[in-house]
Amino acid sequence: MTHWGWYWGIKRKGYKAKKLCTWFDVIDSFDIFNIRLMTDFLAHSATRTLLEIPRYDLKVTLLDDNSLQAVYSGGSYNISTERKTCNFGGFYTFFRCPDCSKRMRKLYCLNGKYLCRKCANLCYKTQRLYLSRRLYHMQTKTEDILKNKGGSLYDKPYRMHESTFQRIKRKRIDYEIKGEDASRAELREWYGSKIEPYLD
Ligand SMILES: [Zn+2]
Repeated sequence: MTHWGWYWGIKRKGYKAKKLCTWFDVIDSFDIFNIRLMTDFLAHSATRTLLEIPRYDLKVTLLDDNSLQAVYSGGSYNISTERKTCNFGGFYTFFRCPDCSKRMRKLYCLNGKYLCRKCANLCYKTQRLYLSRRLYHMQTKTEDILKNKGGSLYDKPYRMHESTFQRIKRKRIDYEIKGEDASRAELREWYGSKIEPYLD
């Protein structure tokens, strides 16, 4: 095994006006970095290639600082990563979106460039009718409740009851799961049925 990647291309049927893209690929930082074996293996492999998508001449390699370097037909860019320690010890690794620098678990490939859901326009497309945009918004709003009180998802705000904190966190996770489901269903609807039903 020298590389592994995602090849569930999705084509939207009967879509003519303003073609955004015809193929999608998703990378999930939890899948890549939370399996130590995977990153260790990559780090010691000769090419350090994480994935390749011949369609865009895209090749993504792992760098020493755990960031990713992507080279494709349109140039090259880096995807930096960030570690977040979690309450139970250990840590989670997230990507930083190459465009908006926001911390993201999943990045979507748009014609060779990996972007977050927002920058890839997935949300905006859904704005009129679809659920995913609203759920994404609710996700951010729930996080804001904690932020406004000086905390975060990983850090209970001072003076907040543990049970309240847990309830807000559960809500946030719930929105995330529903949002992912909704996005996937919408993508399936636009691009045909080739996308995997669910990955996690
Ligand atoms: Zn972004």
